[in-house]
Amino acid sequence: MSDCVFCQIVAGRIPSTKVHEDELTLAFMDIGEVNPGHMLVAVKPHVENIYGLDETLAAAVFRTAARVARAAQKAYAPEGLTLYQANGVAAGQTVFHFHLHLVPRYAHDGMRLSWPAKNPPRAQLEANAARLRAALD
Ligand code: AMP
Ligand code: ZN
Repeated sequence: MSDCVFCQIVAGRIPSTKVHEDELTLAFMDIGEVNPGHMLVAVKPHVENIYGLDETLAAAVFRTAARVARAAQKAYAPEGLTLYQANGVAAGQTVFHFHLHLVPRYAHDGMRLSWPAKNPPRAQLEANAARLRAALD
């Protein structure tokens, strides 16, 4: 995908600031850093979103995430660490090449995600779960 910015980073055609790299994943600094140590973990192949991750890539991306999360904890000792991952425009995705954000967090750092909990009755949760179970591959 020659017009994909993260494919170009993986290929070394545009600059990035790398933290860790292996055969399947790349961890690098987000240019739109929210707090110091804000990293992205991307898969190396062009996979647009979570729906396209096979088991090998899914495992690889989380193995890298856990490893660089420990590095962020050691390096910055943040008060918290948020993993954020968007699929689709409605979810806030702007780069359509799968990546996870790791954002070191502090009280009152201004990062917000509205969470409008509906707390439905158990019967509704059961119906929702049944629908999902029926859709599992
Ligand atoms: P999203 O798709 O919502 O997860 O957002 C994409 C993220 O990629 C944003 O936080 C951008 O700051 C970041 N980003 C976009 N281009 C680059 C780049 N060339 N190098 C590093 N980070 C980038
Ligand atoms: Zn790509």
